[in-house]
Amino acid sequence: MDQAARIAEALQSRRNVLLLNHVAPDGDSLGSTLALARALWARGQRALVGSAEGVPEMYRFLPGSDRIVAVVPEDETFDAVVFMECSAPERAGALASSAVGVPMWVNIDHHVSNTGYGDLVLLDSGAAAVAEVVLPIIRVLQPSLDVDSATCLLTALLTDTGSFRHASVTPRTFRLAAELVSVGASPTAIYRWVYEDRTAAAVRLQGAALSRLALAEDGRVAWTVVTQAMLRETGAMMEESEGIVGTLKSIKGVLVALLFKEEPEGIHVSLRAQEGVRANVIAEALGGGGHAAAAGFTAREPLDDAIRRALAVVHAELSVSAVTFASDRPPGVVI
Ligand code: 5GP
Ligand code: MN
Repeated sequence: MDQAARIAEALQSRRNVLLLNHVAPDGDSLGSTLALARALWARGQRALVGSAEGVPEMYRFLPGSDRIVAVVPEDETFDAVVFMECSAPERAGALASSAVGVPMWVNIDHHVSNTGYGDLVLLDSGAAAVAEVVLPIIRVLQPSLDVDSATCLLTALLTDTGSFRHASVTPRTFRLAAELVSVGASPTAIYRWVYEDRTAAAVRLQGAALSRLALAEDGRVAWTVVTQAMLRETGAMMEESEGIVGTLKSIKGVLVALLFKEEPEGIHVSLRAQEGVRANVIAEALGGGGHAAAAGFTAREPLDDAIRRALAVVHAELSVSAVTFASDRPPGVVI
């Protein structure tokens, strides 16, 4: 029996399963926990999806997202907990404490930095999205996928692959996407719900952040900030800063893009890197983690200090990285 089947078998005999998202939840984490929860619900099992920071507005279209809780009722007991793409339990934020004492921990992830904790572990760093890892478990629990679960999983694939553009995309990613579309999930609708239907305030925030962009390392690094003052001025929410860092990365010659987000608890930094530069190595050196192409960390120091320290680590990674792009050559040419 493979590990996915073993996890499915373990979950189907549980009375109440807690499924946890990571903090700052994205489409992959939310879509994958919901699809797995929906498979359990379809079998008449109890399952609760927790997301310590709630569900961002842009993901509230996900079928079942209205059932996601930010606080787990104290009197509710669970006999299994699933950590969805949490490289360490702490990534579940305040809800990590709800897992304490739960007799079975399941750890499902596609981050290289996963520490391998838990009783049942399913890791695949070659998966473009954790949805690819969770789908074989769901297939056992719910052999005929419904359109709502397919929508959750296609959202996960679409968002974690940058709409099927990232280097992590494989033929398997497209095969799974094809399967989900054939069940009835609509890439057109999902793209619109996630990336369009934006508020004017979000576009103004993007404008404000992009107008402050700075370049470093001879144009190989681009960075900018989103401060609380900018949120007040534009009326946007921090979660609407999604997409800014990708725009920075799209600048010709840029190998690493950084977005410094001033949050109440610290400066959250989103990192994106072109192939050949390891964003996860930069983030890990600063206490965070992620993938080679996309990673992040939280700095608990003033904004200027966070920027200075991050740029120093980026400098170190660039100096060991094998890739240098001449500005007059197309990206991808290794010289
Ligand atoms: P984002 O920039 O979209 O918030 O995150 C990009 C990627 O890095 C995601 O895969 C996310 O899970 C990961 N990531 C972001 N922040 C952290 C962090 O503080 N710790 C770890 N381990 N991973 C992070
Ligand atoms: Mn993911």
